Amino acid sequence: MQNNNSITEPIMIIVMDKNASQEMVDHVLKVVKEHDLKPEPMYGTQRVAIGVLGEKSKLDEGKISRLPGVKEILIVSKPYKRVSREYQPESSQVKINDDVIFGGGKPVIIAGPCGIESEEQFRTIAQGVKKLGANMLRGGAFKPRTSPYSFQGMGEEGLKLMKKIGDEVGLPIVSECISVDHLDLFAEYVDMIQLGARNMQNFDLLTKVAKLGKPILLKRGLSAYVDEFLFAAEYILNEGNKDLVLCERGIRTFENSTRNILDLNSLALIKEISHLPIIADPSHAAGRYDLISPLSRAALAAGADGIIVEVHNKPDEALSDGKQSLTFESFENFMKTAPQYYCHHE
Ligand code: PEP
Ligand code: MN
Repeated sequence: MQNNNSITEPIMIIVMDKNASQEMVDHVLKVVKEHDLKPEPMYGTQRVAIGVLGEKSKLDEGKISRLPGVKEILIVSKPYKRVSREYQPESSQVKINDDVIFGGGKPVIIAGPCGIESEEQFRTIAQGVKKLGANMLRGGAFKPRTSPYSFQGMGEEGLKLMKKIGDEVGLPIVSECISVDHLDLFAEYVDMIQLGARNMQNFDLLTKVAKLGKPILLKRGLSAYVDEFLFAAEYILNEGNKDLVLCERGIRTFENSTRNILDLNSLALIKEISHLPIIADPSHAAGRYDLISPLSRAALAAGADGIIVEVHNKPDEALSDGKQSLTFESFENFMKTAPQYYCHHE
């Protein structure tokens, strides 16, 4: 059993000089180990940084800073470590395939229905959004619904359909996992696993999904502070899974004129303090289709690395979230304008 004491905290980053040789890097790694600390080298495009894990008391900062090739030493002051830009100054990229890379210089547009309702429904939507330029497909097979009487999703059959149709149209798929009982299914069928707002602090689910080693889309909880969101992300990175994309999906505030409020403050802040890619979900934030385009433009301008949006061939008949789903026509308009607002942050 892993207990708290066996989790070693990242305490410091050693930034190597641009011109430092591999020998110098190896020497620093050796000295860190001699201090009974664990080095974690990160090879960036510009330079090497070495994260140091362990107990602060074992550290001889002065000695390490004088080693050849060491440019500077940064003490990680944020309570969350691996997700912070202090720990990794360079923005992370999360690669799903050669065409779909979060943080890779192009906005990633994920589109699809809230829930998979039938083979025909999902195929029609998948073909429609692919034609209009979507990069990835979304769709829930296990739906976390507020009411137990609402449509709960097609389950395993839904995931199988998603995989089959994703392959047919040539788009990767993302779907939400709501239970540790379903880990095998998600490992088999999906390209990216969504962890939903209602499960953001389900740490058992987070860590077990992280261990599968697949890319993860972590949505912010409805009432989660930024710190809590980043701590949840830290749980995932601590499992050695670096393929993590965050998603701002709207939070609860006093304002009740829309379903939730898309928190662009937090999105812009997270871009500053974390290296992780973050996308926006204007569908669940607004709860109405007519606000999707303006909110997406704003989110992309604020630094979002992509948008996840609900699209339905017949929104009036959708079994969930019809009111916030775009038609093909409105998705076409969205695709003509929203991606242009993307501004890439290094
Ligand atoms: C969804 O994406 O369909 C969903 C349920 O999202 P959230 O967890 O953000 O409510
Ligand atoms: Mn939905």
